[in-house]
Amino acid sequence: MAEPSPVALALGGRCPQCGAPGLFDGLVRFAPKCRACGLDFHSFNVGDGPAAFLILIVGAIVTIGAITLELAAEPPWWVHLVWIPVATGLTIFGLGLGKAWLLGQEYQHRAREGRISE
Ligand SMILES: [Zn+2]
Repeated sequence: MAEPSPVALALGGRCPQCGAPGLFDGLVRFAPKCRACGLDFHSFNVGDGPAAFLILIVGAIVTIGAITLELAAEPPWWVHLVWIPVATGLTIFGLGLGKAWLLGQEYQHRAREGRISE
């Protein structure tokens, strides 16, 4: 079987080992392990790396969107309240995607926290 691409795995929330769905147990929380092959998702520590990137990316998207909307339509001020749920949604969606992608990368490259060989 060909290795599925990391992006496809991340988008589908799929296990990097067997490709079965069910990586997530909730919006951005990983399930304890794969229900299909038993890969222990909690042994991967993706940390908060994605969150920092995400804040920058979501911030840029929302800022550009707000400026574009303002220049194009000059809506009343309250229309811009829409950016709050948009930013929240993008952050949650992006965080899940980023974490799933990182876990896939760690799985592929067998990255682990530094350890003296035992
Ligand atoms: Zn699996």
